[in-house]
Amino acid sequence: MEFWEKTIRIRIDEALCASCTSYACVEACERYGREIIMRGPDGRVHLVGDAEETARRGTECLACEYECRMRGRGALSIEVPIEGLDDYRERHGLQAG
Ligand code: SF4
Repeated sequence: MEFWEKTIRIRIDEALCASCTSYACVEACERYGREIIMRGPDGRVHLVGDAEETARRGTECLACEYECRMRGRGALSIEVPIEGLDDYRERHGLQAG
């Protein structure tokens, strides 16, 4: 699954989640964020609201990614697009990340 907060994109590889028992991402969102994700009755991670509500309520705290790496299966990744970064890298001879 994939969703956006205001400026960041969150991707979750649900195939990796299938063997996860911690649901550390959900716990982190409850503790540090605004509970935009939850564990559904089917045992999968779901958004609490629709895409618009998620983008509005998300705090971009990044806790879900950290906790998934530490206690989950490394299934969750966050992309933070920065306008002009590719041009900057090119001008300074840096490789894209
Ligand atoms: S902690 Fe990571 S692996 Fe576990 S359910 Fe959440 S996103 Fe999936």
